[in-house]
Amino acid sequence: MPSPTRITHWIDGREFTGDAERHGDVYDPATGQVTAQVDFATAADLDAAVQAARRAFGEWGTTTLTKRMAVMFRFRELLNEHKEELAEIITAQHGKVLSDALGEVTRGLEVVEFACGNAHLLKGGYSEAVSTGVDVYSIRQPIGVVGIISPFNFPAMVPMWFFPIAIAAGNTVVLKPSEKDPGAAMFLAELWSRAGLPDGVFNVVHGDKEAVDALLVHPDVASISFVGSTAIAEYVYSTGTAHGKRVQALGGAKNHMLVLPDADLELTADSAVNAGFGSAGERCMAISVVLAVEPVADDLVAAIAGRMATLRTGDGRRGCDMGPLVTSAHRDKVAGYVAAGEAAGATLVVDGRQVHPDGDEAGFWLGPTLFDHVTPDMTIYTDEIFGPVLSVVRVASYEEGLELINSHPYGNGTAIFTCDGGAARKFQQEVQVGMIGINVPIPVPMAYYSFGGWKASLFGDTHAHGAEGFHFFTRGKVVTSRWPDPVHGGINLGFPTHG
Ligand code: NAD
Repeated sequence: MPSPTRITHWIDGREFTGDAERHGDVYDPATGQVTAQVDFATAADLDAAVQAARRAFGEWGTTTLTKRMAVMFRFRELLNEHKEELAEIITAQHGKVLSDALGEVTRGLEVVEFACGNAHLLKGGYSEAVSTGVDVYSIRQPIGVVGIISPFNFPAMVPMWFFPIAIAAGNTVVLKPSEKDPGAAMFLAELWSRAGLPDGVFNVVHGDKEAVDALLVHPDVASISFVGSTAIAEYVYSTGTAHGKRVQALGGAKNHMLVLPDADLELTADSAVNAGFGSAGERCMAISVVLAVEPVADDLVAAIAGRMATLRTGDGRRGCDMGPLVTSAHRDKVAGYVAAGEAAGATLVVDGRQVHPDGDEAGFWLGPTLFDHVTPDMTIYTDEIFGPVLSVVRVASYEEGLELINSHPYGNGTAIFTCDGGAARKFQQEVQVGMIGINVPIPVPMAYYSFGGWKASLFGDTHAHGAEGFHFFTRGKVVTSRWPDPVHGGINLGFPTHG
């Protein structure tokens, strides 16, 4: 077994070995082996990254749009050229199957492509002759050094929800990726360098709470974009804003799929399986609850279970459908929820603990699991499990299903399956959730729209990417200007009105 490689920080355009008194193990979840050790930053390491970013901001923030756009285009080309390599890194550290890892990179690439349109997105407005000889116009400027803190489940895509836009808008970045799968961020840093991004514009600092806390309170950091669990999102939001930062903190989820009796059963069953078990359920847009409006439940549960029997769980490099969970601790936590659901009286239709994986027996395996007759008081219903566990709750009506969705604390994504356009339209209007699918189970918005949930799924006012992304990473000025002409107004001490 080769000895673990060392992963250290990326600061000022090169690898940076800091104090490194603490480090974390990085696993290959499909073999259970430690493949790398990642340095954990101290506050001093974090400060080195922020200072590099601050120095770089001086020039990058005023570099012309044309030059910034040229770097963005080169980065886009390199990312596209090397997407398979990046997907392999993701699979080796996260565990998701290769095709899914490639899908993640593709969705990140879409944000890069969107950010290549920075010249258009940073345009202001202009009003001529608001008063005699007076024009008014607005401009948007970068905010400075921006901090990004990302979760393990999308080690490439989630950072790319933010940094392409931040950089295209003229900011400089300090990224703190998840310590569980830090390799993708380092690969992206190298691509930026090769694309010609000046040193210090994009920095990566690894670590845990110590690095996060140092970023949250650093006086030279203008904003924080966080994605992770709700408990940490709340903490990041309150600490970051208390230190004067602009913060967007995206949290956890419990996404419901409401199935009306007139739904296309085959499409619905396919969608429930794809959205429930893709990436082993470790997606913030995974479906974890199916609300079956009777009398559809018996047929739907049978159709879902039938499809689950065909799924192959195993090493993501072997063409399997579903990979392992990210760590043994997380696998055990999810398996604990399966035991809790059984003990609470839900019907365990498919038990993923019995899985025979196509992979090393030391991998962090748990197969797809299906519960029926779940009730809203059970922890498998109330909690975000973040694993391959799908719960079916039987409801009597559309109204009962809607009420459950709206009273759940999370509001990230939801979907309705029906052939009734009027019902779907009513649902999109009445549901208290940020992202809605109509016969689409994972409604992740395209890069030119914005991503974000409601309620305990997002703290802050601004969603990720799209026009809101450019808004978050810039601040506005409005200029009222008059150039001397032969006509002067003379002295007037009254409050200026634009007559
Ligand atoms: P996490 O909250 O454990 O970690 C997220 C980040 O916070 C990591 O970089 C981690 O190092 C850091 N962190 C962990 N503990 C911390 C602490 N005590 N103080 C400060 N920082 C800390 O989340 P995770 O397990 O990596 O990711 C899964 C979670 O992320 C799920 O809850 C999922 O729903 C959520 N998620 C949400 C979205 C969304 O768009 N809403 C997208 C992806 C993931």
